[in-house]
Amino acid sequence: MDLGIRGKRALVCASSKGLGRGCAEALAEAGVDLVMNARGEEALMSAAEQIAEAHGVKITPVAADITSEEGRAKVLEAAGDIDILVNNAGGPPPGIWSDWEREDFIKALDANMLTPIALIKALVPAMMERGWGRVVNITSQSVRAPIPALGLSNAARTGLTGYVAGTSRQVAEKGVTINNLLPGIHATDRADALDTGVSKAQGISMDEARTRREATIPVRRYGTPAEFGATCAYLCSVHAGFIVGQNLLHDGGGTNLTV
Ligand code: NAP
Repeated sequence: MDLGIRGKRALVCASSKGLGRGCAEALAEAGVDLVMNARGEEALMSAAEQIAEAHGVKITPVAADITSEEGRAKVLEAAGDIDILVNNAGGPPPGIWSDWEREDFIKALDANMLTPIALIKALVPAMMERGWGRVVNITSQSVRAPIPALGLSNAARTGLTGYVAGTSRQVAEKGVTINNLLPGIHATDRADALDTGVSKAQGISMDEARTRREATIPVRRYGTPAEFGATCAYLCSVHAGFIVGQNLLHDGGGTNLTV
């Protein structure tokens, strides 16, 4: 399927690895020029080179912490006109409800709620003026079914979800859609970090932690960044203009819900 977005420009935050990189690859494959971002310059430059070479699109890499005000300013200055925004950042650490203090919540809110909101506010007005735009926020399955150890993530991402529910319906008439894409477990560094936590807490090997987690997923495996990216690219396509304010689970059926 031709996604109809060849020649558009996308900002994909936190995209040197993992799910963000999957989204960047899929958009590049659809002919979209990219602004890619991550903190670590080396991995970012290498990802940008590989994607540019594979798909022949123009890539502007910007090494910056997207969760800081200075980082966002740097990214936005390099970005210029953007048609497609993919919001992403690292997730908060796991822990126990009684351990988290105000500062931990502020950090999580900054990274996973206020950063995407700031970028939406910065970029959506010009999309509305041009009459076309797409925003996809990478959130988590924990928005639909909270994961107890990820209380910081549950709290921050649910806040973003509430904001998107209202905002998406205010901008849709101008051709701009905002949706959330909710990953279940995918084979990325983040999954390794979560499995390491389980392995330490339960005194089992990493392989055993992964096998046990896979057994809880109806497809019996972790998702891939490529599958996730393809879904993101579809939400960014011309065909997805009637999909507004949705929370799409990409979880292999792992979240046990009827609707
Ligand atoms: P990942 O494999 O750890 O990749 C994270 C990417 O984001 C890297 O490119 C990293 O590069 C970049 N990054 C992290 N913090 C950043 C920051 N402050 N500013 C700019 N770039 C930053 O993570 P992932 O698995 O792709 O997960 C992406 C998001 O989905 C996370 O919020 C995660 O919590 C959520 N999620 C993931 C899963 C899963 O199974 N993978 C499931 C549910 C939710 P640098 O470190 O160089 O900055």
